[in-house]
Amino acid sequence: MRKNKEDPGLQEHVVDSSALVQAINLKKYYPVYSGVFRRIKGYVRAVDGVSLSIRQGESLVLVGESGSGKTTLGMLLSKLTQPTSGKIIFKGLDITDKIPKKLRRKIRVVFQDPYASLNPRIKILGQVIEPLIAEGIEKKEAEEKGYKVLEAVGLGTELASKYPHELSGGQRQRAVIARALVTDPEFLVLDEPTSMLDVSIQAQILNLLKRLKQEYSLTYLFITHNLAVARYIGDRIAVMYLGRIVETAPKRTLFSNPLHPYTKALLSAYPAPDPEKPWNPEIPVDIAINPVKLPGGCRFHPRCPLAMEKCKSGTPELVRAEKEHYVECFLY
Ligand code: SF4
Repeated sequence: MRKNKEDPGLQEHVVDSSALVQAINLKKYYPVYSGVFRRIKGYVRAVDGVSLSIRQGESLVLVGESGSGKTTLGMLLSKLTQPTSGKIIFKGLDITDKIPKKLRRKIRVVFQDPYASLNPRIKILGQVIEPLIAEGIEKKEAEEKGYKVLEAVGLGTELASKYPHELSGGQRQRAVIARALVTDPEFLVLDEPTSMLDVSIQAQILNLLKRLKQEYSLTYLFITHNLAVARYIGDRIAVMYLGRIVETAPKRTLFSNPLHPYTKALLSAYPAPDPEKPWNPEIPVDIAINPVKLPGGCRFHPRCPLAMEKCKSGTPELVRAEKEHYVECFLY
C-alpha cells in the first residue's frame, strides 16, 4: 500500500478526467449562531474535504449514518447549494460557481418524500412537465414528452390527470422520477428515494431505477443508510463519516473486504452474506459526537476499538489499499 503523496492511482481516482462528475476537495460549512446578537459560535462541517469521481453510467452509493453529510454532498453535486470551497466538475466543465442552462437540465434530484416533492394542487402531468414549461417549451410538445416519461415509469395516461393525493406512495414516487426524467438528464442524485415506501413498493422502485438507468444511460449518486439497498443498486460504494469519505471500493470488494473500522461497524449491523463469516458486533457505534466540536486527529478515534495514540492527534490520509479500493485510516 502506498501513501497518496506518491500514489498516482489516488490522483487518478480523485481527478479522473473521464468521469462525468468530479468533486475536488469539496467543503460545506454551516455557521452555528448563539445569543441575541447571533454571534457565530462555530461551524458544522457537513462536508469537509471530499474528493470523488463518478464515472459515466456508474451508480455510486453513499452510505453512512444520518448526520454524516450524505445529503449535503448530494445537494452540492446537484447544485442546490453552494460549497464553502472546493470544485465541482461536470462533463469536464467547472460548474462550481455557475452552471450553464443546457447543463442544469442534465442534473436532477429525487428526494425521499414524494408527497412533499409534489404540489397537492397541480395534476400529475402538469407537475411532470413543469421543468419544460419553465424552459419555455411549448405546452403541446411538453405534454407529449410528459406522457412518454409517465409511461416509462409505469404510470398509465389515466393517472396523468389525477392529483397527488389520489395516488399511492409508490405511484407518487414514480411521478417524481418522471419529472426528473423529463429534461433528459444524465446525472441523477437519488436521496433515499425508497426509504419512505413500504418494503414491497421499495423493491419495485429499485427495479424501476435499475431499468431506467440502462434505458436512459443515466449516472447515479444514490444516497442511502440501508446497506441492502446499497448492495442491490450500487456499482461502487463510498462510506461517509462526519463529513469525510473514509472508504470507497467496488461493491463486491467493500462487502467482502471492508477495511476501515467504521465500515466494519456498519457492516456488523448488516446480516453477513456468508454465514461462515463472523459478524463484528463489538465495535461501538453509539457514542455521541458534537458536530460543532469534532474530535481532533482521526474523527472516528473516540469510537474506534483499534485507535492508537497517533489517531488522537494525526489526521490519516486517503491511501490506496488495492485497485479502486481507498481507505482513510492509519492502519493501512
Ligand atoms: Fe481507528 Fe486510527 Fe484508523 Fe481512525 S485512523 S479508524 S482511530 S485505527
